[in-house]
Amino acid sequence: MKYTNSTTEALVKQYREISLLNKVSALLSWDMEVNMPKKATESRAAQNSYITKLISDRWLDKTFKSNLEKAKKLKKLNKEERACVRNVEHSAKYYHRVPQEIIVEQSEATSKAFMAWREAREKNKFSIFAPHLKKIIKLNQLVAKHIGFYDNPYDALLDIYEPGFTADEGQELFGSLINETTPLLVEIKKSKFFKQKSNLLDKEYDISLQKQLSEFILAKIGYDFSAGRQDISTHPFTTELGTGDTRITNRFSPHNFIESIMVAMHEGGHALYEQGVNEEYAGTPLEGGVSLGIHESQSRFWENQVGRSHEFIKYLEPVMSAFYPIQLKEENAESLYRAFNRVNPSMIRVEADEVTYNLHIALRFEIEEGLLNNEIKVEELPKVWNTRMKKYLGVTPKNDSEGVLQDVHWSYGSFGYFPTYTLGNLYSAQFAWAMGKELDTKKLIKDGNFGSILSWQRENIHKHGSLYRPKELIKKVTGKSLSANYFIDYLSKKYANIYNL
Ligand code: MG
Repeated sequence: MKYTNSTTEALVKQYREISLLNKVSALLSWDMEVNMPKKATESRAAQNSYITKLISDRWLDKTFKSNLEKAKKLKKLNKEERACVRNVEHSAKYYHRVPQEIIVEQSEATSKAFMAWREAREKNKFSIFAPHLKKIIKLNQLVAKHIGFYDNPYDALLDIYEPGFTADEGQELFGSLINETTPLLVEIKKSKFFKQKSNLLDKEYDISLQKQLSEFILAKIGYDFSAGRQDISTHPFTTELGTGDTRITNRFSPHNFIESIMVAMHEGGHALYEQGVNEEYAGTPLEGGVSLGIHESQSRFWENQVGRSHEFIKYLEPVMSAFYPIQLKEENAESLYRAFNRVNPSMIRVEADEVTYNLHIALRFEIEEGLLNNEIKVEELPKVWNTRMKKYLGVTPKNDSEGVLQDVHWSYGSFGYFPTYTLGNLYSAQFAWAMGKELDTKKLIKDGNFGSILSWQRENIHKHGSLYRPKELIKKVTGKSLSANYFIDYLSKKYANIYNL
């Protein structure tokens, strides 16, 4: 990277310390999820909170702050410097505007809330979690006030996870998704294929073979195993531990062999993004992906646009059959394609298919906005949740554990995170549309020629790291602002075909 002046150079140099600490913290967390013995919980928590404190000290450092203020006023910065200053300013907002007491109170409140959430979920009793949730909402309202917003406190929080994204835009996007997806779901449920049962997932699929297959797939799509590794954890994730070290995790269950394939594609998509960022950006404010939503678009692209496509299943069918010749004896590419794309409206978000997934998020988006604007009361939450589940998905949770208590996010204090999952789906469809204008994507997938697809992503998206804001990037790559239409179009065509509508 080139610098036009000493202020931005100093700012980036100081940022490098934050970046190093972030990677150390990520390594501690990776180890906690993958290797750590149970008895180390407390000592690891102490180590983690110490690193967190060091990171917050770096953000609050006086010279760092004054360099940022100076850099903001400089006129003749180059494109990369301007992006560095913008990214630092964006991340620093939370530390610089929210009073320390509130940050401390938040961290205490969320530790307690997490314990209460776990107990509430176990005992299936929302009232145990309710007072903690109330406190978290109050604190989030305060945080929003300090960060600043025009007329909706939700905007201040959404912007933390997806820079520039607002509640108004969310209403429009989720509005179209609800309008288009709920009737599609009704049609699918009427189809004769909807009720057809398959015994595919009753059989047993050797776990070490599943692991080998997932490694085969990762290598095929371009994941560099000399710059990463795949391990096992309860909740799969991708973590960036530094240049040349992008790790992913997977989970393997004896019956559901589809899941570990899809997890490999999903986490592999996140990892390909990180592995493809310009190395010059390592340790600078331009490292890593643009935002959670754009990051999720890269994982959803490989998981759904590629992994659940007819062409991919056709490509992978002989490989899968070689791994599980007995279990898949009766199957062919068509039946496997159907199995990989089975629509099954259920209570649980993480198990949701492509058609229903965004409806789960739409419900959470509406609830978060209602809670932050005091339009929904915490006490009425289970009722609001169940009514909307029925309305959007046609199912009603049996209890709060499979309803309002299912996700951990609110106990962590995260409000505004959920929408990025849907943004990922929408961006991925719009990127795929743009890619399709330049490449014969279907043929490339069918031939297993994933390198050309990855090169397109590297050139258009990955190499830029976080040089652009989400809105700039989608416009630059697709020529258009984000719209739900690309995704809706993709979904309707695909599922009309699968369910013969
Ligand atoms: Mg993801």
